[in-house]
Amino acid sequence: MRKIILYIVLIVGMCFLIPLIGVHSFESVDTVAQEENVNSNENIIQETSNTEYDYREYNTIKLLHKSNGQVEELKLDEYLYGVVSSEMPADFELEALKAQAIVARTYTIYKIKTAKKHENADICDDSTCCQAWIAKQERLDRWDENVRESNWNKIVTAVNETKGKIITYNDEPINAFFHSNSGGMTEAPINVWGGSGYPYLQAVATPGEENYTQYNSEVTLTKLEFESKIKEKYPDFIIDWNEEKCIEILERTDGNRVKTIKIGNKNLSGIEVRTLLGLRSANFEFIIENENIKFNVIGYGHGVGMSQTGADSLAKQGKNYEEIIKHFYTDVEIKNI
Ligand SMILES: [Zn+2]
Repeated sequence: MRKIILYIVLIVGMCFLIPLIGVHSFESVDTVAQEENVNSNENIIQETSNTEYDYREYNTIKLLHKSNGQVEELKLDEYLYGVVSSEMPADFELEALKAQAIVARTYTIYKIKTAKKHENADICDDSTCCQAWIAKQERLDRWDENVRESNWNKIVTAVNETKGKIITYNDEPINAFFHSNSGGMTEAPINVWGGSGYPYLQAVATPGEENYTQYNSEVTLTKLEFESKIKEKYPDFIIDWNEEKCIEILERTDGNRVKTIKIGNKNLSGIEVRTLLGLRSANFEFIIENENIKFNVIGYGHGVGMSQTGADSLAKQGKNYEEIIKHFYTDVEIKNI
């Protein structure tokens, strides 16, 4: 009888002990992995996600490096780490970085599907042609050592936590334009590039843009410098500085950018003046003072689509990535591809 009781006690004891051993051994594995991470600088920096996502025909993309003409094959989200970390400061809010990750993913898919520019590659790393991109090591080297790990992990988190998501309108990926600072109001593309525009790209107001250094800038030119810059494109340009309205803003856009400006004998668009004079945006005012012309410029970039500082400002006000995206792109949906 005593033996039977002893067996029962043993069996019941085993039932409690076995699961405990199991749990403990899992914890040990985790602890070892964490220790390895701490001890190896290489492993501190989060590698690509372990969670794979089936992007079907977009699982890998061919990236053209403009500097040497080489084409590199990368996983889509791995490519996006290099885009997001190149396009948006890592100290921006995580929700803003997530919005940027979705915008970059959408832009990439849109380019591949409808606006492919390169024969042997899907996209290139030149921001003036396709989309900016930076190699991981180069990115890490440019950050201070004390923020290197947290910055990279934040970028990886922003991309991985939005895995699969793109912005669509009528079930198609949108042409997800973005820029640095809207100056408080974004712009319809028709006012920037002409054409018929896109229904999801409207001028929208964003509070908080003025709190960023990208909001305000000044450019001062001498009258001679000013004239020679205009003459580079228009050799027959003349201006009589004694005339009271020798420069006059004739019309502004819905986004408060200069639409048309009369300068001497020329009527130019604000966009053209921005390019000719190297201003940060087409939202400007001017003062003629003695021999100089001073331009006060509001905002940074073309103003179309998502403003990056606006995204950060909205995130600081408690908005999530979905609210941020739907603020800047009208009547869109966020869908998994
Ligand atoms: Zn390109």
